[in-house]
Amino acid sequence: MSVDCLPPVDSSPTGASARARPNYSRRRAWVLLAVHLAILAHVAQWMWGGSTLSPVEPSEATDLAEHGRLNAGAIFFLVTIASTLVFGRWFCGWACHLVALQDGCRWLLMRVGLRPRAIQLGVLGLVPLVACIYMFLGPWLYRLWQGIAVEPRVALFTEEFWATFPGVTMSVVTFVVCGFGAVYFLGSKGFCTYACPYGAIFGIADQLAPQRIRVTDACQGCGKCTVACSSNVRVHQEVRDFKAVVDPGCMKCLDCVAACPNDALYVGFGAPALWTSRRTEPPTRERANASQRWVRAALEPTFVAALFVVLLSHQQQFQLGEHGGFVAAMALGTASVAWLFRGRATRNAGPALGDELLLAGAYLFALFALRGYRPLAPLVPWIEARAPWAASLGLGEGIPLLLSLGLAGLWAYSLLLAVRLLRRSDVSLQSLALRAAGRMTPAGRVFAAAVVCVLGLTVHAAAVRGAERDAADASARARAEAELEYARGLTQLESDQLEAAERAFRAALERDPAHVGARKRLVGVYFASGRDAECARELEQALSVAPGDPDLWFLRGLLAIRGGDAAAAESAWTRALDFDASHPAIREALAALCEERGDAAGARAHRAAARPSGP
Ligand code: SF4
Ligand code: SF4
Ligand code: SF4
Repeated sequence: MSVDCLPPVDSSPTGASARARPNYSRRRAWVLLAVHLAILAHVAQWMWGGSTLSPVEPSEATDLAEHGRLNAGAIFFLVTIASTLVFGRWFCGWACHLVALQDGCRWLLMRVGLRPRAIQLGVLGLVPLVACIYMFLGPWLYRLWQGIAVEPRVALFTEEFWATFPGVTMSVVTFVVCGFGAVYFLGSKGFCTYACPYGAIFGIADQLAPQRIRVTDACQGCGKCTVACSSNVRVHQEVRDFKAVVDPGCMKCLDCVAACPNDALYVGFGAPALWTSRRTEPPTRERANASQRWVRAALEPTFVAALFVVLLSHQQQFQLGEHGGFVAAMALGTASVAWLFRGRATRNAGPALGDELLLAGAYLFALFALRGYRPLAPLVPWIEARAPWAASLGLGEGIPLLLSLGLAGLWAYSLLLAVRLLRRSDVSLQSLALRAAGRMTPAGRVFAAAVVCVLGLTVHAAAVRGAERDAADASARARAEAELEYARGLTQLESDQLEAAERAFRAALERDPAHVGARKRLVGVYFASGRDAECARELEQALSVAPGDPDLWFLRGLLAIRGGDAAAAESAWTRALDFDASHPAIREALAALCEERGDAAGARAHRAAARPSGP
């Protein structure tokens, strides 16, 4: 938010302002420090004990949406949302490690004289809500759409605490991009406003919460509360218009309460923001012409649908016939929720329509290119050959979702500035002039060169990601065709058409050489047709693909028996028991061997250890 339009701020301590006011910033800093210490203690306990409570982190709730597993993170997220419905958006202000990062970066930037101003990026403000629905509702809704049931279960403990978190390299990049980058380019809560999926749901719950920042009649409209707010809320205006802060961006940090010289602000219960009536006339905005209004009206749902397509196509190829209806329903639902909970706060006007279209297109392109892109992957073998310790840094990792959302926002805004450099006589990035009075400044030249380089890298990333997705699609298609051939082979096997079955299993292996089922069945076909040499050759190949498959070891034993080598058979079957200790056919075969050599006790023991064979 800009602090333009503020009344002149009176800095003289009046009687009321001279009182000792609680320092909520300091209290918040202590609470955030305690949160980080608790996280460190949790990590230490896991490293020490090997098993621990699953991460208490909202992102873990994706496991509930995708696999029906209720873990500690999902419970924490649900409890936090429920408490936000009553107390407002407290988690963001008091418990989020990313708010600590953004506040810390803002504080450092202000120490060097930079006060980041909030930038309005129009339709990109929908990104957090789309990301939230994609992460936490999408998988669940898609299963409902497909009629697939998932058995819910509780999974509170884990041995793989770090499995869902990025490695060192991506963590450092996240720190820089979501901290300094987002704060400097987009404002003090840049990541929260344009990338964070949790913020979207907290913002919605906040609008239904009865507890808010409210005002008494002591307010004199001085604007000090707005100056104190690092969440870009126009506090003085909101309390004037609504007698309460209604902006869903309010994180209940209480800095405004502490800053008010008249003690006019307090935290209190009353009507939720959605139903708070306005005490003043709403500001009149210049109305766009009819065609622009239509384009704008269509832009939001179109952008939301396109964003869903880009996000979904990360996992599988988007097929219009198969996924189009689902995406259209999700986009319409999301756009409706966004409209319903758009908030009643008065904000600066957004970008012009042309700029908004450019931002939307650039964002989608960058997200497609960057998510999952592994920028250092080609260099990893070279680096690790010279510095083996670098293997622990995760240099070859792909860019994770949240980082790619943040990067795409920065990239889209940078491209917009670069285009403005070509068309406007005055352009600035925050307080840094890039072009002044029609002349490019040195900073502007550096910025333009950087944007051209990053554009080149992004195009390269898009080409790489496109090729990777094509390869993944081709391999998924080949796997699906292999499954079909395999199923055909099984049918032919059932009707004893061994030759036709062999052809089908071979065809399956041509399409997917790692298809263990087809390879196993092929071994069985050779065995049944008495082609022992081919059987042995195929069996060794199958064991190299699936060395832990007990059926393959069983077949190896059968082959050895046929060759008259009972010792080799026993050794193969004993090995098979390592992978399935109660395999009925293997136990029976071992029992038969024991009986042959007169070991009745051994035979009994094997039969007792076998699980009942299937019907
Ligand atoms: S919006 Fe997201 S990043 Fe920002 S404070 Fe809230 S949870 Fe943290
Ligand atoms: S609430 Fe307090 S700080 Fe804010 S405008 Fe009113 S008197 Fe000034
Ligand atoms: S309005 Fe007040 S409580 Fe809300 S974020 Fe701003 S300073 Fe914090």
